[in-house]
Amino acid sequence: MAKDYYEILGVSRDATQEEIKKAYRRLARKYHPDLNPGDKQAEEKFKEIQEAYEVLSDPKKRAQYDRFGHVGDFASHHEPAGNTGFEGFDFSDLGDFSFSDIFSDIFGGGRRTAAERPTRGEDLTYSITIPFEEAVKGSVITIKISRLDKCPRCGGTGYEPGTGPTVCPNCGGSGRIYMQRGYLKFSSICPVCNGTGKLPGDRCKKCGGEGRVKVEDTIKVKIPPGVKDGGRLRIAGKGNAGRHGGPPGDLYIIVNVLPHPYFRREGDDIYITLPVTYTEAALGATVEVPTIDGKARVKIPPGTPSGKKLRLRGKGVPRPNGTRGDMYVEIKIVPPDLTDVKVRELLKELSRFEGKNPREGLFK
Ligand SMILES: [Zn+2]
Ligand SMILES: [Zn+2]
Repeated sequence: MAKDYYEILGVSRDATQEEIKKAYRRLARKYHPDLNPGDKQAEEKFKEIQEAYEVLSDPKKRAQYDRFGHVGDFASHHEPAGNTGFEGFDFSDLGDFSFSDIFSDIFGGGRRTAAERPTRGEDLTYSITIPFEEAVKGSVITIKISRLDKCPRCGGTGYEPGTGPTVCPNCGGSGRIYMQRGYLKFSSICPVCNGTGKLPGDRCKKCGGEGRVKVEDTIKVKIPPGVKDGGRLRIAGKGNAGRHGGPPGDLYIIVNVLPHPYFRREGDDIYITLPVTYTEAALGATVEVPTIDGKARVKIPPGTPSGKKLRLRGKGVPRPNGTRGDMYVEIKIVPPDLTDVKVRELLKELSRFEGKNPREGLFK
């Protein structure tokens, strides 16, 4: 005698897929063997419900059932051999229907679900602002950050101390369950443990099972010499701790470099504009110039024009390979002090001897 699958699920013959799914969900909750231990009738009922749902939830099988009143010989008559669609049936084939809904009734409350797998912690990004010299020479700075650290109570596992994963009683630890329903043989991922074969322990009371808690951390950051403005440093493992014992994320430090009152940087080279007098430029001189390493002496050759760049080799920014860029001293001639009468007189006198017009050639 053919079973009436519609009657079993308590739906009309023109029920939508959504109604069928809802009905199945409701009945599965009610009759699942794990919720009715030792109840043979409930177990039989549950098998019927499963069978009905498997047929009615599949439009192809449902059409077959509507037409012939059964699907038992469906495969041999209407489908290519070897493609019954039943062997190795997996619960994940049920689409968005979730067995965890049923099992959360049993294993909810203080227990963790198998879905809480270890995951890597998030990366964190902080930015700092440092003086020009520290960026060039490198330094060690201390910063305070808020991050999620490994929970001290459970050590990051998320389990209450003294508890932990146990062998899944539903599948005996294999992660799969096997069922025989009439002529149908099912093998599926164990829905209780999601195929892991284990059941988690109780949630840690401090972290609620996340395995991590918020902390204020003090972190020493080594700024390597030569770091650029906007440069990013990675501090491995100092991001948020992982969830449920997963690996930690990384901490990224964005370095902003303050401008210097007179040094400026172009790549690995450092530039400075050096004011010199009219006579120093004209007659030549040796003057002191600040560098990143302290004072240095620069020889200004006689007849040096404004804008001339003098190079101090190896006085620039350190490179990762141990070499250094150069420093450039850009000459800027400042006008003489004309408040002094003597200076004015001498310059007037001098102007009478300046024969060559520097603008010669501009009008040719
Ligand atoms: Zn904890
Ligand atoms: Zn299991």
